[in-house]
Amino acid sequence: MSVEKPGGRLCDGKRASLPGARQFPVIQKMVESMAHLQKEKLRLQQELLTLQEKLSARENEEIAVSVQLQGQVENLKANLLDQAEEISRLRSELGGTDLEKHRNLLAAENERLRQEMKACEGELRALRQQQAPCRACEHVQENGRLQERLAQLQREMEEARAKLSELDLEVQQKTNRLAEVELRLKDSLAEKAQEEERLSRRLRDSQETIASLKSQPQQVKYIIKTVEVESSKAKQALCESQSRNQYLQEQVGMQRQVLKEMEQQLQSSQKTAVQLRAQITMYEAELERAHGQMLEEMQAMEDEKNRAIEEAFSRAQVEMKAVHENLAGVRTNLLTLQPALRTLTNDYNSLKRQVRDFPLLLQETLRSARSEIGQAIEEVNSTNRELLRKYRRELQLRKKCHNELVRLKGNIRVFGRVRPIMREDGEGAEAANAVTFDPDDDAVLHLMHKGKQVSFELDKVFPPRATQEDVFQEVQALVTSCIDGYNVCIFAYGQTGAGKTYTMEGTSANPGINQRALQLLFAEVRSKAADWDYAITVSAAEIYNEALRDLLGKEPQEKLEIKLCPDGSGQLYVPGLTEFRVQSVEDINKVFELGHVNRATECTNLNERSSRSHALLVVTVRGLDRSTGLRTAGKLNLVDLAGSERVGRSGAEGSRLREAQYINKSLSALGDVIYALRSRQGHVPFRNSKLTYLLQDSLSGDSKTLMMVQVSPAEKNSSETLCSLKFAERVRSVELGPVSRKAELVSWPSLEQLEGS
Ligand code: ADP
Ligand code: MG
Repeated sequence: MSVEKPGGRLCDGKRASLPGARQFPVIQKMVESMAHLQKEKLRLQQELLTLQEKLSARENEEIAVSVQLQGQVENLKANLLDQAEEISRLRSELGGTDLEKHRNLLAAENERLRQEMKACEGELRALRQQQAPCRACEHVQENGRLQERLAQLQREMEEARAKLSELDLEVQQKTNRLAEVELRLKDSLAEKAQEEERLSRRLRDSQETIASLKSQPQQVKYIIKTVEVESSKAKQALCESQSRNQYLQEQVGMQRQVLKEMEQQLQSSQKTAVQLRAQITMYEAELERAHGQMLEEMQAMEDEKNRAIEEAFSRAQVEMKAVHENLAGVRTNLLTLQPALRTLTNDYNSLKRQVRDFPLLLQETLRSARSEIGQAIEEVNSTNRELLRKYRRELQLRKKCHNELVRLKGNIRVFGRVRPIMREDGEGAEAANAVTFDPDDDAVLHLMHKGKQVSFELDKVFPPRATQEDVFQEVQALVTSCIDGYNVCIFAYGQTGAGKTYTMEGTSANPGINQRALQLLFAEVRSKAADWDYAITVSAAEIYNEALRDLLGKEPQEKLEIKLCPDGSGQLYVPGLTEFRVQSVEDINKVFELGHVNRATECTNLNERSSRSHALLVVTVRGLDRSTGLRTAGKLNLVDLAGSERVGRSGAEGSRLREAQYINKSLSALGDVIYALRSRQGHVPFRNSKLTYLLQDSLSGDSKTLMMVQVSPAEKNSSETLCSLKFAERVRSVELGPVSRKAELVSWPSLEQLEGS
């Protein structure tokens, strides 16, 4: 605002007081009034100036106030913003959603606690089932943790409450400050209104003065005009100040509007705060309830825990007791173990010492053992020599005893076997039984012949019920002696149909002496295999009409001759007679099969032929004692003789007669040989038949003979039975020479030599 200095006008006024005016009193007056006006104008101008200055000062003040107010409003806004932020922060801290969140958190925590409690219960149950001691400490820890958590939550709630009350206080302070600012604004507005009032009053006064001046003369008019002209300027300034005032008022109105809005905002924030407070109280109640619930649950858990602890404690006490008992047992065990441990330690130490000394000891022991072993070997050798000497002597003694036994028993033994009555024997008187036995003596049998009973005594009599086994039982000692190097002959004698073949060969289901003898020999040989090597060979021959044939050879029809061994030993042998080495029952069966086949091809009627010829099975057993070098050779002759019935009497002719003659001749020759041997004649007619010639070795001197006389029990056969039994009796009384074993003592000294050594 620029105010024109009125000084210029004063100069103009001095120019107007011309010297001519002094001459005119009106003019003088006018000049004076003009000066007065001038002064007045000057004063007014000054007043205006001061007013303007005041206005500008006021304006400045207002501006300052408005700036201040604006600052305050800004501050308030900022405060409001802060408050809003604080409220939102409080909301986020304690506000509805966060409280909800918090409540949710608490609920989740609650739920977790419940789950944990369930888990605890499950654990407790498992613990009860396992009878394991309760780990009460976990419950205690859990409880402590929960209580800590609760205390923390309560602390947080307290803090939130303190913050809320601080905020309340702040809001209160701000409201007070706002009221103060409003008051001051009102004051300044009132001052302004008063100032305006004063100014307008002054303006009116000046206008009135101007109007009064206007009613004065022309000169005054001019002055007035000038004043008017000048006052227009003042007016303009007034207008300007008025418009400025107007603007300021608008500004104030706007400020008021802003203030009003702020008040509204404050009110709404206060409302929000009230709502928030209500929510807080609600949440507090919720929290209180949750807390109560939690406390209850915690109490229940506490109770449960206490119960579990008590149970676990009682269980633990029981277990503790058992453990104590065990401990006591272990202690006593330990006490008893200690001496054992001491002895063990001592043993261990001594063992350690022994181990240390062991190599030396071992060397020493080895040295002594070596010398001892040498000594022992020497002793064993001498004992061995002694034993060998004794063994040889025992052998001689045994032989002597055996010979004595044989001498006492008789070296030719005669058994009788009566076959059962069969369908073939017919019926009626002819088939009646003519043979009876002595129940107290198994060596006697009685024959009813032509109304007279004739009794016979043999070495043993087998009645019809006797089995093949029973018979073999009595024979087997003879068979085994063949292994020891004796020659043995077993004859089956008797009329045709009396059971010779049955006794010697038997049936496949019920084998006779032949097969059983070979089986026994195999068994014996096997049992001696550790010391002896044995070879068993078999030959089979047939003597028919004084012709000797090989039943195992490729040409069975060929007649064989009996010859003296070319080695000068005086032994007989049959060149071309086939010998089979047998090692098993299968081998024997093959041999028998072959013999049967060959015998059958040689005749038209096997039964006829077999009853008219002698069948021989010769088993040779050769042994070698590996330790002594002793060799043995024994021969077992199993002879199924031709039928002994007297054919001549029945008036036979031709070939039949010739057969009968040959049979009679050979059987008589057998009787003669045995008789000559018995009566110790110088000449024994072995050569009178092929059979005796062939069996010379096995009948003479050192041999053993068994004659099995087969008889039929039928009445119609009684004559032949009588003949057979008479033959048996005669043979039984024959004594053979002293028995000797066919043993070659390869490197043996004689008994005399042995006894001399
Ligand atoms: P041999 O050879 O003396 O002519 P066999 O041995 O052929 O007589 O016997 C004639 C019949 O009598 C045969 O059928 C035979 O089976 C039977 N036999 C002989 N002895 C007995 C016995 N002890 N038990 C049963 N049957 C027998
Ligand atoms: Mg026969």
